[in-house]
Amino acid sequence: MLTIADQARATLKRLAELKLQPTPDNYRQVFDSLHAGEQAAAPVPQPEPADWGAALRRLIAQWERSQSGLSQLQKRQQIDRLTALPTAQALWAELAQTLDRWSALPARSGSAVASTPIETRDAQESRDGSAWRELWLHTLKNGVQPFCAHDTAQRLLRALIASADSAAQPADLNPQAREVWLAIDREQTTEDAVRNGLTELVRLLLEHLGDLVPQPWVGVQAAAIREQLQAPLAPESIEQAQNAVRDLLVRHSVLRKSEEDAHSTAKALIDLLVRKLGDYAAEGGEYNQRLEGRLTQLQASREWDEIRLLVQDVLDDSRSMQKRSGELGVHLAEAQRQAQAAQERIRSLEGELEQASQQLQEDPLTGALNRRGLDAEFTRIQSRVLRQGQPLTLALLDLDHFKAVNDTYGHDTGDAVLKALVELATRLVRPSDRVARMGGEEFMLILPDTPVQQSLVVVQRLLMAFSEQTLVQDGTGRRIALSFSAGVAELCPDEDFAAVYQRVDAALLQAKQAGRKRVESAVPCGGAKAGGSLPKSALRYFSLRG
Ligand code: GH3
Ligand code: MG
Ligand code: MG
Repeated sequence: MLTIADQARATLKRLAELKLQPTPDNYRQVFDSLHAGEQAAAPVPQPEPADWGAALRRLIAQWERSQSGLSQLQKRQQIDRLTALPTAQALWAELAQTLDRWSALPARSGSAVASTPIETRDAQESRDGSAWRELWLHTLKNGVQPFCAHDTAQRLLRALIASADSAAQPADLNPQAREVWLAIDREQTTEDAVRNGLTELVRLLLEHLGDLVPQPWVGVQAAAIREQLQAPLAPESIEQAQNAVRDLLVRHSVLRKSEEDAHSTAKALIDLLVRKLGDYAAEGGEYNQRLEGRLTQLQASREWDEIRLLVQDVLDDSRSMQKRSGELGVHLAEAQRQAQAAQERIRSLEGELEQASQQLQEDPLTGALNRRGLDAEFTRIQSRVLRQGQPLTLALLDLDHFKAVNDTYGHDTGDAVLKALVELATRLVRPSDRVARMGGEEFMLILPDTPVQQSLVVVQRLLMAFSEQTLVQDGTGRRIALSFSAGVAELCPDEDFAAVYQRVDAALLQAKQAGRKRVESAVPCGGAKAGGSLPKSALRYFSLRG
């Protein structure tokens, strides 16, 4: 049985024998006749060769013409219908008819493009076989003009179009065309510089937004937005960053509004209290005066009825004062309740924002810091240890043969291993140390106030505990041999994260090359390596202690 390629070869051979042009229609007819087992005995009648070049030139001329009673939209719809036709012959016939119809229409009054000159030149162009002018004009108007945004390039392009439209030859246009491209290039360079400058400005603002605004969550959100704007910039990432900035502004304004509400509530309450206290004090003053007067009267009084009335007045006064004082107490309690409620509202809003920011800094699988969290923590810890003259060490861990763990036991078990390592590391290091996931199965420990020798010991102990840990896969009961390799480096003065990462990564590579399941110290700042890996005996010692 013949393959498609064999059939195609046979068809082409037959076409050559019949001296037929390999047009799609001829090909199909010969192919069909061969395939049906019949020899194409008689030559297949060949249709008149269609002059597609002339038709296209006519189409361009008619497209640019403004015909009376025919809108550009109608033209587009008619062309759309043509493109849906099933065969080239149908397309050719329908196109010819459409063009005849269009050219028969008179030019729209006041239209800039008159039909006659174009038709005349079209005919002339097709006579001498040169279509270059229409092609040039079409390319310049439709391909180049939309990209000329500025005056100079536009002016030069208009001049070039005018020259191309005149009797000039292609070679005459070269210097002018060169000028146009140079102008576009210059403008493009300026636009690039503006765009890059603006991008840099946005990055700078986002980088320092956290320093300008006291709430820590603002800095975290700004760092997340900055990440979205990493090069290469795409419209989607800009849109995402815009949405994130809007969200940040909304959250900030909600918080500010709550704070303002709380302030005005507190101010109104204080105002009320001061007035009530004033009233109370004034009433108290009057009460004292009245009381003193009544006591004087009482001392002078001899009549029992008078004394009884005076005592009654004193009692009434004191009851009214008691009532006023009770009211003041109620006011005070209410004021306190409202102030507390406002405080709690603000605290809960701030808590929500803190939590959202923390989630942005966390790796969802393991709960370790993610890259963003690592950057923020490194910057914070670095500035503290520098201020206090303390050492800071980083340890980079990479699981050994982890691909094999995934391949053998499945991705879920792999995930469980990653979680287990983070859990163990968090348990074994100090609370002030940090565990971060760099990505994949690579983790970074930040060990502040710890010199490199001490960090080597800590990481060795972690390695020991991790490799002794038995993780049994569900169902099968198989044990997984786990280990990691690690590099450890103490931060040098004036070193940034990228520089220390390079050293610690090189140390990790060395640990891998030296056979894995080991910890290597990095080349120190000044040159020759100190410390190295701990001997196996030390490993055992620490594992026994750990
Ligand atoms: P080496 O000892 O040289 O480090 O070998 P390796 O197999 O650990 O290193 P390699 O870089 O070849 O493979 C890393 C593997 O880590 C491949 C990838 O499938 C796996 N991995 C990365 N991220 C995750 C994750 O989130 N979950 C799981 N289960 N596997 C992951
Ligand atoms: Mg790796
Ligand atoms: Mg690995």
